[in-house]
Amino acid sequence: CGIVGYVGARPALNIVLDGLRRLEYRGYDSAGVAIVCDDELLTEKKAGKLANLEKTLAERVSADPDGCPAPKLGIGDGTTGIGHTRWATHGGPTDRNAHPHQSRDGRVAVIHNGIIENFAKLRAELEADGVEFDSDTDTECAAHLLAAALAELRAAGEPDGPQLLAAAMRTVSQRLEGAFTLLAVDAAIPGAVVGARRNSPLVVGRGDGENYLASDVSAFIEHTREAVELGQDQVVLITAESIEITDFDGTPAIGKNFHIDWDA
Ligand code: GLU
Repeated sequence: CGIVGYVGARPALNIVLDGLRRLEYRGYDSAGVAIVCDDELLTEKKAGKLANLEKTLAERVSADPDGCPAPKLGIGDGTTGIGHTRWATHGGPTDRNAHPHQSRDGRVAVIHNGIIENFAKLRAELEADGVEFDSDTDTECAAHLLAAALAELRAAGEPDGPQLLAAAMRTVSQRLEGAFTLLAVDAAIPGAVVGARRNSPLVVGRGDGENYLASDVSAFIEHTREAVELGQDQVVLITAESIEITDFDGTPAIGKNFHIDWDA
């Protein structure tokens, strides 16, 4: 339902949670975040309101005062993150079904708006390959497919880095049918968030030494009013300093810059 991504120099968790709050008006049943911090991926997700998620994050921090997850609570410095508010379509509104969904090794996290129409077929294929699923969502197959695409590219000798994440997202997007906005992060690729869209909104916010992705500009309007519109069937890779857009086949594309001049 609501999607936010951030890469920059500031602690991401705060910005992602604030962005999700700006999207609350759309309604949702669960919320979750994934923050890349010191080559680790920290995720938390809860059914219910954002306040539930924040309470759980706070409990985690008090249990592990040296842990990374909560700059909002005075510690932690992960500056790459994604967050989601879910409106369940496949699988009930439970903690387990909330986004992000992760690869088996926990290194890759994916959030999704929309419906992946061919998820049952993809899930059956993955299960036949021995992949175990944690949820009843259509979304989870995208996390496992992305991890597999990343592994394949690495095995082929492709260097790790933001471009690897974009290439893997293009491979996955080509396999998905239906409507989707997807965002993903990989613990091994800090400083990058990749997004993809088909029949579902995704917009880029262009900051100064930081960039945003969101399902709706209201998520980042308090930080920047410079935005980039994506076309249909495109993948966008953001780092703190760059925004790169391609079609699903890798052809470079140019987004349409626009200035948000209304009051949010
Ligand atoms: N179809 C996905 C799910 O049920 C995403 C729903 C949404 O757009 O929030 O988890």
